[in-house]
Amino acid sequence: MDFHEFGFDDSLMDGIDAMGYETATPVQEQVIPLLLQGRDIIAFAQTGTGKTASFLLPIIEKLITEPHDKHKINAMVIVPTRELAIQISQVLEGISYFTPVSSIAVYGGGDGNLFNAEKKALTSGVDIVICTPGRMISHLKMGYVKLDKLRYLVLDEADRMLDMGFYDDIMGMVAHMPAGRQNLMFSATMPPQIRKLANTILKNPAEVTIAISKPPEQIVQAAYIVYDAQKIPLVKYVLGQKQFDSVLIFCSSKQNVKQLTEELKRAKFAVEQIHSDLEQSKREQALIDFKNKRLKILVATDILSRGIDIEDIDLVINYDVPNDGEDYVHRIGRTARAATEGTAYTFIADKEQGKFQRIEKLLGHPVNKLPVPEEFGPAPELWTPSDKRPKKKKYQKFKRKPNNPQS
Ligand code: AMP
Repeated sequence: MDFHEFGFDDSLMDGIDAMGYETATPVQEQVIPLLLQGRDIIAFAQTGTGKTASFLLPIIEKLITEPHDKHKINAMVIVPTRELAIQISQVLEGISYFTPVSSIAVYGGGDGNLFNAEKKALTSGVDIVICTPGRMISHLKMGYVKLDKLRYLVLDEADRMLDMGFYDDIMGMVAHMPAGRQNLMFSATMPPQIRKLANTILKNPAEVTIAISKPPEQIVQAAYIVYDAQKIPLVKYVLGQKQFDSVLIFCSSKQNVKQLTEELKRAKFAVEQIHSDLEQSKREQALIDFKNKRLKILVATDILSRGIDIEDIDLVINYDVPNDGEDYVHRIGRTARAATEGTAYTFIADKEQGKFQRIEKLLGHPVNKLPVPEEFGPAPELWTPSDKRPKKKKYQKFKRKPNNPQS
């Protein structure tokens, strides 16, 4: 579907052209008309589907064409991480460039000057605010932010925000908003808490599902079963195997990110790190350098597994097994974007084998296990189904369905 068919204002079309968008993606085809009609929406879609523009475009269009108070906050996009706030505000800047719509990203970090600049904008009114919950709550508590004229609320990556414990903060913000607003919620998954949040916030929502969630076929996936102590030497070994230009390594904890980065630096690899203990300016710089290919290796926590659009990564290493299949798909989906080939290695510690088997189940096939090079000494054995036998009793107790003749 061509963007001209939506009937957007010329100034917005100029921005869409400047961004190089020609045809709408599936999520845009579905979400844009519904938002233009004034519907609330719950949408299940991942990063990379074009979901950001699917909500920004209709909101900007409505702000251009419908009367609203310029001295108030008219739209709010709440997101889980600073990186995502920055990325959305960059897309917003691009597509709204030729329009009169104003915006600000409010995401914490930075110094007192930044806080004061945010305070000024929030007090005098701005059309669209993109924010992380914690920072916005800090401003709201000071009393100068008025959300009484808010017309559009977007919760992006809502499942992630709930995982991060933001439920109360979100509800605290919603309490300041008028009932007549239009709401949109994006989530990659549908746990019960998301249903609860949707029932509380959305009015008769239309449901949009953009199917996932299998990794692109051009990603070569493989795994090593290792002892924890073998992981760092194995990273160095993998990095030395071939010339990689852009490598993203995910760890499940900040400690692992810090330790691995330090070890790689010591071994003279060009590497930086991103995790939540790091100053905002350093996080931003590392991401910019990595995106621009000035930096070859980035080690990060799951902050970067979703929502961040980085092109042409040729290798993703899961230093730890991700928590679930969705996280796995998100992490390895950082490579092989835009139909290029990519490689994803997962390091499975002995105790993580059960977790990885669940991921393989979701994928629908086992991931190829590579032999750990002999120089690293003996590695753990691959668990076979019989290794799980001791747990079977408990499993049967909870899974038995007496009314199902199949079971
Ligand atoms: P998102 O899923 O919102 O993170 O978008 C992923 C990437 O696709 C971003 O770099 C967008 O700028 C880009 N994008 C979004 N919509 C389109 C479109 N209709 N055509 C081409 N690229 C797009």
